[in-house]
Amino acid sequence: MSAITDATGQMRPAAELHALVTEHWGRLEGASAHDVIVWAAATFGERWAVAASMQDGVLAHLAQEVAPGVRLVFLDTGYHFPETLATRDALAARPGHHVLTVTPGQTVAEQDATHGAALHDRDPDLCCALRKTHPLDEALDGLEAWATGLRRAQSAGRASTAVLGFDERRGLVKIAPLASWTDAQIADYVASNDVVRNPLLDQGYPSIGCAPCTRRAGADEDSRAGRWSGTGKTECGIHL
Ligand code: SF4
Repeated sequence: MSAITDATGQMRPAAELHALVTEHWGRLEGASAHDVIVWAAATFGERWAVAASMQDGVLAHLAQEVAPGVRLVFLDTGYHFPETLATRDALAARPGHHVLTVTPGQTVAEQDATHGAALHDRDPDLCCALRKTHPLDEALDGLEAWATGLRRAQSAGRASTAVLGFDERRGLVKIAPLASWTDAQIADYVASNDVVRNPLLDQGYPSIGCAPCTRRAGADEDSRAGRWSGTGKTECGIHL
């Protein structure tokens, strides 16, 4: 993806973006998700995007209301459940929603030919790097910020998620407007706003990733227990 520039062609350097985080994180930490997104839209214009996992469309809905046409980036790994792809299609069909589907450099068949079949079973970190992290890096190239639906309530590993942070590896501002939201708040927002929602959430999957690496989670498990179950891996790498 080519870089997006304004009339002057100037992109803010990483140091300037980092300074934005330092200046605003304290105020935004206690702000509503709506106000955080208002700030992001005003600060970054066209130079930000929203990562959309196609679990629930709460963040996409909020972002679209504040910043119509904002890019909603979906990483199509080639391994998604049909329900997830249908959720993507339903979101994209909503008026004004700009869903950008990003694909890896290789199809699953090409990856199998290069690395052997079922790389996800043998080296999930490499598989995630090839099918998630690198494609997202490319999709965010030329932007200044990205937003994610990370929430502290999702897992112990996400308990310290900041509303506003700096993505050191990419040199971008990282925004998590829903960081403090509880599961109940998400449910209330979905019910009140006719939000697109993955039907697998009602079938025992509180967290939905690629089909080979996602199982149902028990009621006594944390919501991400079904992701890469039994491997010790807890994140795909896009947030590291
Ligand atoms: S979640 Fe599994 S199938 Fe999907 S990219 Fe990662 S390792 Fe590969």
